[in-house]
Amino acid sequence: MPFYDLKCKKCGNEFNIMAKMSDRSENLIKCPVCANNILEPIFKNVNIIKSKNSTNNDCPNIHKCGGCCSHN
Ligand SMILES: [Zn+2]
Repeated sequence: MPFYDLKCKKCGNEFNIMAKMSDRSENLIKCPVCANNILEPIFKNVNIIKSKNSTNNDCPNIHKCGGCCSHN
């Protein structure tokens, strides 16, 4: 069963729960705090930001060397 990162729209509680995909699609997952079943998924965008910035062409020392550190 997959894990879901969910946030309760009623009380704002964020929780991680393992549930069947059918449970999620049929809104059978409930907030453990208030038992509300209107939940929104939490998208952890760390990976998205990382992949955007994964251009290895930029010189990491560009502020020190002006981008010409290849010949030190
Ligand atoms: Zn709740």
